[in-house]
Amino acid sequence: MEIQRDENMVSVSDECNNHLPKADALLPPESGGNEGRAGRGKMITTYSLWNLFRNCRRACALRYLQGLVPVEPDNNLSFGSLIHECLALWHGERNLEKVLEHINRAYPNAAQDEEQKKSWHLATAMMKGYVARYPQEDFQVVALNKLFGGKIINPATGYSSHSFVLAGKVNGIVQIGNEYFLLEHKTTSQLDSAYTEKLWTDFQVILYAWYVREVLGIPVAGIIYNILAKARLQQGKGETEAEFEARRAELLAKSKTGKTTAQRKLPESDEDFQQRLCTKYTEPEMFHREKFYIPKSRYDVLKSELWELTQNFLIARRRGYLYQNTAFCFHFQSPCAYYPVCSADNAAAVIENNYRTVDPHEELKTAQDMDSAFLEKLGIFSGQLKKAA
Ligand code: SF4
Repeated sequence: MEIQRDENMVSVSDECNNHLPKADALLPPESGGNEGRAGRGKMITTYSLWNLFRNCRRACALRYLQGLVPVEPDNNLSFGSLIHECLALWHGERNLEKVLEHINRAYPNAAQDEEQKKSWHLATAMMKGYVARYPQEDFQVVALNKLFGGKIINPATGYSSHSFVLAGKVNGIVQIGNEYFLLEHKTTSQLDSAYTEKLWTDFQVILYAWYVREVLGIPVAGIIYNILAKARLQQGKGETEAEFEARRAELLAKSKTGKTTAQRKLPESDEDFQQRLCTKYTEPEMFHREKFYIPKSRYDVLKSELWELTQNFLIARRRGYLYQNTAFCFHFQSPCAYYPVCSADNAAAVIENNYRTVDPHEELKTAQDMDSAFLEKLGIFSGQLKKAA
């Protein structure tokens, strides 16, 4: 009960601490600034929000309170999202032609744009390879891209949060015999034992499994990770005339006969490169499935951790400060998406030039079968989600 009283206090007013100007800039005005806050005082949160809050509070504030995303899209994220869409299409209709058309539509400038062409080749070969690898499945699809929304419960008291609800979308729910599993798609550049060993740490999918059990009433026993490796092959660029002449001169200098049969390397055609990629995707290690059963103890840990995160968020919001975690700035071997704004101390010009403003939870927008009635029942204002649908 004590914790609930604390939440009510916090939700009355977050606009405090005027002595912390930087923090004020990170907190949205009560009206309109935070679309993730639901009309009746509950804020719709997602796993992505909590994960970012855990990793770097400042990044969480910039993304989910200010709604900033980089103007330049992250190619890796966009590619992963496209493959998720393709897999949903395939598992829903099992029509490869439609999947390939979807890829074509995603890269309308593949003929001229090098980045688009690269992604088009990879996505096309990956999906053709996937379909050939799994012509039949040992599971039945129960739901795809299923949206859920649920209360966040204090495990110590059984009361639900007055401030937050959790929403999310599972890639798939499948059935094998009498058991149900979440089908979770992953794309990775490095599919090896180190990658699969880390899967048990996947906070998101276990959390989602719990919500699917509790909210949708489907007794999920575990998870099937459906992992697709990204081939690292590059399309041969060929040599310029000058490069060829330089190589030829080098070979001639080494040749005892003063002759060479070297010929200029021509660029690899799209057809040849696609064929080479498709051959790569016949290799067994390009696809992998891993099945886990979830022990009850994992659910207990994650529910407690989620509750702790909510309490820390409320404290941070009340104090008006979401601090930086500079140990996370280069966590993925490249600068964090908010490095420009963060290192410039939130300079308005940097924000204007590098970021655009979006809805807080874009990942929920593509849900196929959103249960808005259910969200209404929870007391969640689902206007934002309806708009997205
Ligand atoms: S640049 Fe570093 S401190 Fe700033 S938001 Fe990103 S991870 Fe956090």
